[in-house]
Amino acid sequence: MLARQKSLWAEHTVQAMLGELFCAGHAVLAPLPQGRRPCAAGATIPGLADAASGMWGEASFSGIRELPIARLLRQEFGLPTAIENDARACALAERLFGGRKSCGRFFYVTVSNGIGGALFLNGALYTGALGNAGELGHCTAVENGRPCGCGKRGCLEAHAAGPAITKNYMELGGTPGEERRAAHGERLPPARGQGAAALCTFALEGRLLGAALAQAVNILNPARIILGGA
Ligand SMILES: [Zn+2]
Repeated sequence: MLARQKSLWAEHTVQAMLGELFCAGHAVLAPLPQGRRPCAAGATIPGLADAASGMWGEASFSGIRELPIARLLRQEFGLPTAIENDARACALAERLFGGRKSCGRFFYVTVSNGIGGALFLNGALYTGALGNAGELGHCTAVENGRPCGCGKRGCLEAHAAGPAITKNYMELGGTPGEERRAAHGERLPPARGQGAAALCTFALEGRLLGAALAQAVNILNPARIILGGA
């Protein structure tokens, strides 16, 4: 690794997100000496991403719809650019560099701001007819449950992703002010009666995620499930 840059999207408009992305890219590239400059770029994309067309189809947390992100990055940085959905990129990384090099059939699931999934079947990434196979986060977990960014109600993502963990914690009697720690799965105060809310939150998370993964196992029969996320 030659350089690293981290920044947060303060706003989720297309213009603001692209501005942050371009800024971060230039901050990484600028200090590199001529011989060390990359010959290509890759971007991992939250939400619906079509690697073949380079199109960012949708990200439910933002206003993004059908954005030609690969072309925009290519124009900005002057580099050939490939994109992939973030969960599928993680599955590919596990296969190429991680602990699953010899495993041809696994299901990768990421639990973060959303819940994504990717299938590695018979030694290759399985993308499905429209490129969105493995989207475990939008399977129904709670009938008529919370509204989800995808337009449905009761999706696993709406009940078990990071922001949902915060909501669950507060609904189960959590302490105001501890929500962010709960959302990031950090250890919460075990004493003073607050531990009960934290334990109930983790138990609920386990039940929701476990039930969804069990269904996936019945359908797909993977050799491994890999859980990731930040
Ligand atoms: Zn959904």
